[in-house]
Amino acid sequence: MVSFAPGTASGGGTGGNVSVGAGRTDGSAGNKCKLQVNAPLSKDILGDVIGLDGPGVACWECGTQGHYKGECALAWGRLGRPLPGWDKNGKKKPGDWNKAEPKRKTYGAWVKFLEDVGNFPAGGAEFLALTDAPDLDRFKERARSAPL
Ligand SMILES: [Zn+2]
Repeated sequence: MVSFAPGTASGGGTGGNVSVGAGRTDGSAGNKCKLQVNAPLSKDILGDVIGLDGPGVACWECGTQGHYKGECALAWGRLGRPLPGWDKNGKKKPGDWNKAEPKRKTYGAWVKFLEDVGNFPAGGAEFLALTDAPDLDRFKERARSAPL
């Protein structure tokens, strides 16, 4: 089994486009990235700058490859809580993106979204301790410095 032991996250992050090994492709993180518990982490949902490579298997919710069910834009849309940069039907909102990266305002919406106990009833999103997975500080940093 691949371990996703807590406390192994590097913290600051180094750019995002870092492979985190076979653990991301065997689906085991899919069981850990839970809807309304864990913060999304795949680049398919978050964009190329802070997102990680997604799983090599189709999402259990929408059937698209590149993200887990727990971070699925369609799954969140069905809850009536569309993800920042996405509409309730799981489609990207072009006005919220600069090509492959969310706009600065969209990262700002992410920070609010992740801290919202309506979205994450345990008191805000829990960040998976995967190597180079984005944490709240990473979202906040992009909310200050990403292109408008
Ligand atoms: Zn999906």
